[in-house]
Amino acid sequence: MLKHFQIMMAEKVLCEVNKVDDIVSKLMHTTEEPGDYTGDDGLLYCGKCHTPKQMRLPFNPATGDEVETFVRAACQCQCEAAEEADRQAERERFRCDMDRRREDGLSCPDGLRFTFAQDDRQQPKVSDACQRYVECWDEMKANNIGVLFYGSVGTGKSFLASCIGNGLLDRLVPVAATNFPRLLNLLQGTYKKQELLDRLSIYKLLIVDDLGVERDSAYAEEQIFNIIDARSTSELPVVVTTNLTMEELEHPSSMQYKRIYDRVLEMCPIRLKLVGESRRRANAAEREKLARKILLG
Ligand SMILES: [Zn+2]
Repeated sequence: MLKHFQIMMAEKVLCEVNKVDDIVSKLMHTTEEPGDYTGDDGLLYCGKCHTPKQMRLPFNPATGDEVETFVRAACQCQCEAAEEADRQAERERFRCDMDRRREDGLSCPDGLRFTFAQDDRQQPKVSDACQRYVECWDEMKANNIGVLFYGSVGTGKSFLASCIGNGLLDRLVPVAATNFPRLLNLLQGTYKKQELLDRLSIYKLLIVDDLGVERDSAYAEEQIFNIIDARSTSELPVVVTTNLTMEELEHPSSMQYKRIYDRVLEMCPIRLKLVGESRRRANAAEREKLARKILLG
């Protein structure tokens, strides 16, 4: 047993020694690339960023002799590339983590389909406001400021909500996009109320699509109020989209919904009205034109 342990330790030490050897051998070899040059100080300089790719050591790390030795160092562009790679890896880890979390069923599968890169900016002021919301997220979060998108069907409300969501995911902010019918279904099946609220609180931003399409019942009203209220109490912002008009939100025909809408309006001081022809109808017309062209030439 002891022998086995000793062998294991010896292997481990050997492995560490090999690692050190590896590092030393890397240090001793600076790769010269086209454009690189030797500076007045005798060090090798990067031809792109003009900072040294070498540094002086008062000893030779390979032999231990006390002679001045040039060893490899990272120039500015190599440092920046390494930092960017680290950030990229962190974003990747975060995305994987978010994807795994999505298995909790809270999010709609296509709720975060769109990014600002796909925005045709038909309403540039609204698009700008959405981008600024992402840029000023820390302030928005600190003051629990949410966004309400309202306007008729197909004007791009869910699209822009999704852009905001992805913009924040890029900044490593946990975001979920869902709707109340989905959450109500989960409450009647998989989740207890508190568990659902706890899971939702993981997401710093919650996008709730299509407020106002839920079944009109005392049960639904109670649960929706609980969810909105929990966000408000935990000071976690929401982005809400709705086909309802401001008049309908401020004076709902069903009094049951008044306290929900009041709370949503209170939590969403940024209200963006989307106007114009339904994009879905425009898309349908485009597709019909395309189909005709394919079939009839
Ligand atoms: Zn460089």
